[in-house]
Amino acid sequence: MNAKDPKANEPLDPATLAARGLGWIEPGAHGIVPPIHLATTFERAADQSLPGGRSYIRAQAPAYDQPEALLKALEGGAGALLFSSGMAAATAAFLALAPGDHALAPAEGYWGLKQWLIDFGQRQGLAVDFVDMTDLALVASAVKPRTRLIWAETPANPTWSIADIAGLAAIAHKAGARLAIDSTAATPVHTRPLALGADLVMHSATKYLNGHSDVLCGALVAGKADEYWQRIADLRGQAGAVPGPFEAWLLLRGMRTLYVRVRQSSASAMAIAERFAGDARVAVLLYPGLSGHPGHDVAARQMTDGFGSMLSIRVAGGRSAALRVAARVKLWTRATSLGGVESLVEHRASVEGPHSKVPDDLLRLSVGIEQTGDLIADLDQALD
Ligand code: PLP
Repeated sequence: MNAKDPKANEPLDPATLAARGLGWIEPGAHGIVPPIHLATTFERAADQSLPGGRSYIRAQAPAYDQPEALLKALEGGAGALLFSSGMAAATAAFLALAPGDHALAPAEGYWGLKQWLIDFGQRQGLAVDFVDMTDLALVASAVKPRTRLIWAETPANPTWSIADIAGLAAIAHKAGARLAIDSTAATPVHTRPLALGADLVMHSATKYLNGHSDVLCGALVAGKADEYWQRIADLRGQAGAVPGPFEAWLLLRGMRTLYVRVRQSSASAMAIAERFAGDARVAVLLYPGLSGHPGHDVAARQMTDGFGSMLSIRVAGGRSAALRVAARVKLWTRATSLGGVESLVEHRASVEGPHSKVPDDLLRLSVGIEQTGDLIADLDQALD
């Protein structure tokens, strides 16, 4: 590593660390971008030692070194691990609990995790209760003697409700549990959960960290490298839920522009929210940056540099009106997922199917980095 700090004792801004990929220079050719390191196995010396310190790719791919070190720095953690997907990262945090342990998970949040906790987690002997993470008193009353993990997502899909990270951390720690935050929508640009008291941060790196809708990847960052973190690392190494070297390389490339992308898309989201909040064609506009959003005060306290690039609108006129708007957009792309440079619109209730609890007049908007005026004009014509 060859990170140079021009002001000696002053830490560099995370945006600078990201832009420079921590300033690593490839040994040998001195490339300022790492090579794509594809080797799956590493030479042993005659005495059976490992001169490169690595044996086999599954848990020790050189391609992870730089993105993991960068993410650890951006989140202010003690360790970071890449996984093959956000779901692989999230499920590892639950699978590292002991059978019989109890976890609290969010009533509102990424539906895929909720489904997994219901389908598989409980079959693994995990007791899970789903609770409204915006209500600290409710969370405190849901804690049980064997509660070992509180999992929250903030801002949370799809109404962008806000969980008070410091408040949840106090409840978790009093109970002898850990607090894990799915910070996918916030990104390190807007929230640093570990500094607010969380023990674990999870990202679907498929989204903003990569930012170009071309990588499936997940990540966990720990505040402490304790025995729970070691269990997660062992689980990853043994079960092999790891990304390939090319995905890790693309992720690092994406992370170098994280701050410019997210600042731009988040500023656009705010402008879009302000433009359509009072519009008669929109029944409710859900964005934590607006003072009318129920989570605004907490968001203003714990988020920095904006309120994120995700918002939802509940279209006046119900399901058919919402589907009509989704059908009429020309610039916004109808697609699932979020966090890419291109703006996406999604009718969540259709995607989640008949058991979805998402209101059927809701459209979820993932704001990209296009010109804000173009995005507003397209929504405006689609709402007409
Ligand atoms: N968490 C959130 C907030 C998400 O939006 C998603 C995916 O949509 C996930 C987790 C799962 O991530 P992945 O698709 O990378 O497995």
